[in-house]
Amino acid sequence: MIYDLIVVGSGSVGAAAGWYATEAGLNVLMIDAALPPHQTGSHHGQTRLIRHAYGEGERYVPLVLQAQQLWDRLEQQAGERLMHRCGVLNIGPHNAAFIANVLHSAARYRLNVEKLSADDVMQRWPQWQLPPDYSAVYEPESGFLKCELAISHYIRLAKNAGCAQLFNCPVTALSRSGDLEVVDTAEGTFRGRRLLVSAGTWVKKLLPALPVTPLRKVFAWYQADGRYSENNRFPAFSAETAEGQFYGFPADNNALKIGRHDGGQIIGHADERTPFGTHPQDGSETFAFLRRMLPGVGVCLHGEACSYDMSPDEDFIIDSPADNPQRLIISGLSGHGFKFASVLGDIAARFARGENSPFDLTPFSLTRFDGGE
Ligand SMILES: Cc1cc2nc3c(=O)[nH]c(=O)nc-3n(C[C@H](O)[C@H](O)[C@H](O)COP(=O)(O)OP(=O)(O)OC[C@H]3O[C@@H](n4cnc5c(N)ncnc54)[C@H](O)[C@@H]3O)c2cc1C
Repeated sequence: MIYDLIVVGSGSVGAAAGWYATEAGLNVLMIDAALPPHQTGSHHGQTRLIRHAYGEGERYVPLVLQAQQLWDRLEQQAGERLMHRCGVLNIGPHNAAFIANVLHSAARYRLNVEKLSADDVMQRWPQWQLPPDYSAVYEPESGFLKCELAISHYIRLAKNAGCAQLFNCPVTALSRSGDLEVVDTAEGTFRGRRLLVSAGTWVKKLLPALPVTPLRKVFAWYQADGRYSENNRFPAFSAETAEGQFYGFPADNNALKIGRHDGGQIIGHADERTPFGTHPQDGSETFAFLRRMLPGVGVCLHGEACSYDMSPDEDFIIDSPADNPQRLIISGLSGHGFKFASVLGDIAARFARGENSPFDLTPFSLTRFDGGE
């Protein structure tokens, strides 16, 4: 059997690719080392922010807007709520580049945002304490996605539509034979006309030359009452502060999830991604931020460890190697990729059909790391 597309790594991006390619009528094999969704990749912890007025740069906005449409469509296909439009509050000092980028992205794409002073924020959400030299941009139509649930639905939809799935089976090597991509696993060798490599944190085991660095990250849930809940219109947030860059979600069941985006520990092996609490700063990295800006949030209830696949400039890698146009690599999502998983899966499905991407992917090319040669 020769597949139209083999997906190596069926987590966030790979699960979406498996479904969209199968939905498009292709003969697809999805492979994963584990059984997605699972706790050993980058996609666990129930929720992921989706921001539209993108602080990481306006080049991401067309992608995220298409991603949102695909998430909304997935919700219809799944018959279950995956998207919570609770709004996202982007917070930072007046002069923060991130806030300036959010405003720039919003203006360029005419997105619905509200610029708020520190006083405006504290009046509307008295849970926040912001210094006077801070401001915020509120995105009422953004929010968060139920990440593991979305992956489960992609995998179920793909399977029901006839996609072959080989899980709990690590890929051990990738090669080429004539016109075909060759994938070696413990369960045998598979061949396809096109290949998607979406293997997340440990992609370098398969593609050692890729400039991707695994980073251990933690996140945790803190005691927070109904004032911090979605019912009470407490929004999700991203905050650039003197204490670090933090993100969080409305409290669910009296527990508010917060993580720190910067920092973390570079790791070289999966064993080094030790559980929450094994590094001294795991439990304390949010304390100063919480005490200063969300003083009504209580003690840490529990936390978890996860990992990012960092590219050198924290921008995505969406490209084919120069010598192999049959292979698409989607990697280096650098801790902000889940919201894009739907559109990245769709890009991979179009690639498998031999179509050009409707998006400008040059900012995400591999050649940007060539040192300008
Ligand atoms: C704590 C944390 C918070 C985050 N918050 C946000 C957020 O709020 N918003 C946002 O947009 N993004 C966020 N992200 C980032 C986002 O979750 C990731 O960018 C995204 O999930 C990565 O998708 P992926 O498909 O590349 O990786 P994964 O979902 O990890 O999938 C990779 C898959 O490849 C498999 N695999 C690896 N090696 C092999 C092999 N050799 N053979 C077979 N299979 C293999 C793995 O088992 C895994 O299932 C966060 C990440 C973390 C860790």
